[in-house]
Amino acid sequence: MKKTVTALTLALGMLIPFTTFAKNNVVVVATGGTIAGAGASSTNSATYTAAKVPVDALLNAVPQIQNLANVTGVQAMQVASESITDKELLSLARQVNDLLKKPDVNGVVITHGTDTLEETAFFLNLVVHSDKPIVVVGSMRPGTALSADGPLNLYSAVALAADDSAKGKGTFVLMNDDIFSARDVTKAINIHTNAFASQWGALGSLIEGKTYWFRNTSKRHNKNSEFNIENIQGDSLPLVQIVYGSGNMLPDAYTAYAKAGAKAIIHAGTGNGSVANYIVPTLNQLQQQGVQIIRSSRVPQGFVLRNAEQPDDKYGWVVAHDLNPQKAKLLAALALTKTKDAKEIQRIFWDY
Ligand code: ASP
Repeated sequence: MKKTVTALTLALGMLIPFTTFAKNNVVVVATGGTIAGAGASSTNSATYTAAKVPVDALLNAVPQIQNLANVTGVQAMQVASESITDKELLSLARQVNDLLKKPDVNGVVITHGTDTLEETAFFLNLVVHSDKPIVVVGSMRPGTALSADGPLNLYSAVALAADDSAKGKGTFVLMNDDIFSARDVTKAINIHTNAFASQWGALGSLIEGKTYWFRNTSKRHNKNSEFNIENIQGDSLPLVQIVYGSGNMLPDAYTAYAKAGAKAIIHAGTGNGSVANYIVPTLNQLQQQGVQIIRSSRVPQGFVLRNAEQPDDKYGWVVAHDLNPQKAKLLAALALTKTKDAKEIQRIFWDY
């Protein structure tokens, strides 16, 4: 017995040095933004042109990523993210869906401008049917700046996309060592590198290429999502617009959007998504005409409580739960591809 064990140990010992563990394959899909930006000098950390550097140069600038995975790049577009429309969003989601269907792709990283990064990440969280890691990453400083944050963010994003422990946890946003859930992350600071936050906290941390998990999201996403991008024809979603609530506001923005064809209006209300008493008749009129009224809040934290401050059941309105107005806008648009029933739309807002 002892002899057999010794022989086995010897044989294994000889084998191990020749065994190379296969690395996962990660595709970086580049879309532009500051992470692909360039400034006039190294001290220009906030004045620069976004969406300049092509994907190959981005990958070559961080050769260490090839130690984490076999990394290849595709240039999906080259834009500053504030200019992304439904057309770019749908085409990116279709591309990511197709990539992840390939058996030899283990994960995808999307490099993206930070302005609307949370929207794209949430959209992918809702429409890409895959358990494989999807990581959206950006940077606050261009690569040309002193202490550029893009290279380490990219390194960490690739580490996350290559990590099998990230499977099935939903779409991520990786910024500044934090692993966020796409559904509740938001750009909370517009000038510093710790720009992203979630009121419910990060899912985990990514340190020196290693993932550390602390919590999971309880909402439906990716493989468990009922939204199917293949059912969306063309390059636009049902029109949804946001109106910002404030004191002494006019009702005209709501009626103008409805006239322009909006199928739902997100009311970014004060406090609990509150609606001024002199705005209520306009919203009820629009609701009766078939425009969905969705109460979100201009307050960055908390959640809108249904039937509090406003009788949502009586009016046939919907509450956006804890989704901020820009995320509520995307979920409403997807909900409208399936139903026109306010109760069913509300169910969707509880589920996602
Ligand atoms: N305006 C830029 C963008 O969103 C900002 C950034 O990437 O940080 O593309």
